Amino acid sequence: MTTTVEIKTYYNFINGVWAPSVSNEINKSLNPADKNDVIGYVQKSNEEDLNEAVQAAKQAKEAWRKLSGSERGEYLYKAAHVLEKRIDEIAKCATREMGKTLVETKGETARGIAILKYYAGEGMRKVGDVIPSTDSSALMFTTRVPLGVVGVISPWNFPIAIPIWKMAPALVYGNTIVVKPASETAVTCAKIIECFEEAGFPAGVVNMLTGPGSIVGQGIADHEDINGITFTGSNGVGKQIGQAALARGAKYQLEMGGKNPVIVAADADLELAVDAVITGAFRSTGQKCTATSRVIVSSEIYEEFRQILVKKTKEITIGDGLDSDTWMGPCASENQLNTVLSYIEKGLEEGATLLTGGKRAKKGIQANGYYVEPTIFDNCTPDMAIVQEEIFGPVIALLKAESVEEALQLGNNVEYGLSASIFTTNIQHLLSFINDMEAGLIRINSESAGVELQAPFGGMKNSSSHSREQGEAAKEFFTSIKTVFIK
Ligand code: NAP
Ligand code: MG
Repeated sequence: MTTTVEIKTYYNFINGVWAPSVSNEINKSLNPADKNDVIGYVQKSNEEDLNEAVQAAKQAKEAWRKLSGSERGEYLYKAAHVLEKRIDEIAKCATREMGKTLVETKGETARGIAILKYYAGEGMRKVGDVIPSTDSSALMFTTRVPLGVVGVISPWNFPIAIPIWKMAPALVYGNTIVVKPASETAVTCAKIIECFEEAGFPAGVVNMLTGPGSIVGQGIADHEDINGITFTGSNGVGKQIGQAALARGAKYQLEMGGKNPVIVAADADLELAVDAVITGAFRSTGQKCTATSRVIVSSEIYEEFRQILVKKTKEITIGDGLDSDTWMGPCASENQLNTVLSYIEKGLEEGATLLTGGKRAKKGIQANGYYVEPTIFDNCTPDMAIVQEEIFGPVIALLKAESVEEALQLGNNVEYGLSASIFTTNIQHLLSFINDMEAGLIRINSESAGVELQAPFGGMKNSSSHSREQGEAAKEFFTSIKTVFIK
C-alpha cells in the first residue's frame, strides 16, 4: 500500500514542550502490513532526555498533588473529549503502526476514552476508611497520598488502552508521570499525549519520551527520582525492572505474559465455544496477553470440536487491517513474525500435528508485510514448547482431557496464570473451575480475552507481580496508605 500521508517527525513531550532528543538521533516507525509505509520518525532518546523529563515531573508534583481529586479529574475529562474528537485518526494510526484491524483499534480508542472518564470520576470517590479505635476518645482513619513521580512503560499490543489505563489512575490519584511507550508504537503514543496536551495539564505533569527500552526503559527502572514504575510487557524485561526497582526501594507493578487455556467440557455449547476460541486466539493476530493459546477439549466431543474449529479457522481473511474485508492483520513486527514462525517449527520438531496454517502468508502484496496464517496444532503433549511458552501469535495447541479435573490439571500446568475460560453448562464443572483454576481472570462461557475497565485486571504466578490494574484496584498501586490517629 502506498500512502499519501505526509511523513512527520514526532518529538518528546517534556515540561509542556515538544522537543527533539539531545541525541539528535531518530527512529523510523513502520507499518507491519507494508514495510514500505513509514508512519513517522520518533526520537531516539537517551539518559539525558530522561533526566530532564524526570526533573520536570519532580518539579510539578507538589502543585499537582495539592489539587483536589475532582480538579485533577477535570483534566482527564478534557483529555477524553479531545480523544473522542480524534478517534478515527488515532485508530487509523494505530492500525497502520501495529497492524490490528480498524474495528479493533476503534474499539480500543473508545475504551481509552471510557477509561479516562471512569478515572475522572474516581477523583471524587473515597480514599479511606474510618477504623474504630480501642480508645473511645480517638478517631482513627486511613487516607491515601500519591507516590510522587511514576514511570510508565508500555507495550505495543494495546498502544492506546494500556498507556491510558496506567496514565489515567496515576494522574487522578495525584502523581506526575514520565511515559516511555514501546518503540513499535511510539507515534500512536505521541498522538495520545497530544490529547493530554490539548486538555491543558500543567507543564511537567505529563511527560513522554521515546527511545530504546534498554536505555530509556532501564533508565526509568534505575532513576532515583522515580517513585513508582508501572510496566506491561514481557516476562524477562518485567523481572529485570522489578529487581531494579526493589534494589532502590521504588514501588513497582508488572503485568506480563500469559498462556491462557480454554476448557471445552463435554456439555458445552460447541458453536459458542468454537467462535470464542477463534476470536480469543486469532483477533489481534494472537497478540493479546489474554489471548487463547491452549484449548483443552473433552475426549467425548474432541473430534467434532476439532472439525468445526478447523473449518472456521480456514475461513479467516488475512490482510491489511485498514481493509474492511480483513479479519486478521499481520504480526506487529518482523521480530514478532519470526518468533511465531520459530515456535511453529518447534511444534513440528517436537511431534505435534499441524491441522491448518503454519506458514507465512505472502500472497501478492502480503509479501510486503509480516503476515502469518492462523495455525492449529493437534496431538500436543503437556511439555511441548508450544504448550508451555507464550508465543504471542495466532497459534493454538489442542489438548485432550478425559475429565474436567484432568483439564484443570493440564490448564494449571504452566508458569503463567493470567486468564482462563471454560465452556460448560454444568454447575459442578464451573464451580470447580472458579475454585481450582490458577488465573487472575476467570471467564465462563466467554472467550479468554476481554476485560472490563471497571474491574480488576491482572494475573497469578509469572503473569504479574500480583498487584492489579484498572477499576478501583488501581488505587492500591498508585497511592500509599496513611493511617491517621487523632486523640
Ligand atoms: P517488551 O519487549 O517487554 O517491551 C515492553 C516495554 O518495555 C517496551 O516499552 C520496551 O521498549 C520496554 N523495554 C524493553 N527492554 C527494557 C529494559 N531492559 N528495561 C526497561 N524497559 C524495557 O514486551 P513487548 O514485546 O512490547 O510486549 C509483548 C509482551 O507484553 C508479551 O509478553 C505480552 O504477554 C505482554 N503483555 C502483557 C499484558 C498484561 O497486562 N499482562 C498486556 C499486554 C502485553 P522497546 O519497545 O523500546 O523495546
Ligand atoms: Mg519489544
